[in-house]
Amino acid sequence: MSAYDPSNVFAKILRKEIPCTPLYEDEYALAFADLHPRAKVHVLIIPKGAYVSSEDFHGTASDSEIVGYYRAVDRVLDVLGLKGGNGYRLLSNAGSHGGQEVPHFHTHLLAGQLLGPMVSIERA
Ligand code: AMP
Repeated sequence: MSAYDPSNVFAKILRKEIPCTPLYEDEYALAFADLHPRAKVHVLIIPKGAYVSSEDFHGTASDSEIVGYYRAVDRVLDVLGLKGGNGYRLLSNAGSHGGQEVPHFHTHLLAGQLLGPMVSIERA
C-alpha cells in the first residue's frame, strides 16, 4: 500500500484549501457533494484522518474513528431523508481495479433514482 499523499484533493478539502458543498460534518467525518455526480444524489463521505484506502482505514484506524465514521455515514442518510425510502447505494473503490481516483478513503452514496445494476463480469 502506498503512503498517504497529503496533496490529494480530499486532504485539500479537509484543510479548506479548496471548496466543497458540505452536507454533514462532525469530528470523525465530512460529507460533501461529488463534483461530477453519477446520480441525482451523489455524496462522498470521508474520514477526517489520513487513510489511503478501505484496507488502510479498516486496518489501522482506531475503533472510535471507525465507529465514528460509520455513525456519520448513518447521519448522512438521516440528513438526506433516505431511510425507509426507495433505497440507495453505498460503495468504496480501492486501487486501480476498483477505479479509485482519489487516494483518501471515501464512501460514495448514490441515491435519488433507480440505479443501474452492478457491472457484470461479462460486460466489464
Ligand atoms: P473514486 O474514483 O472512488 O476515487 O472517486 C473520486 C470521486 O471524487 C469522483 O467521483 C470525483 O467526481 C470526485 N471528486 C474529485 N474531485 C472532487 C472535488 N474537488 N469535489 C468533490 N468531488 C470531487
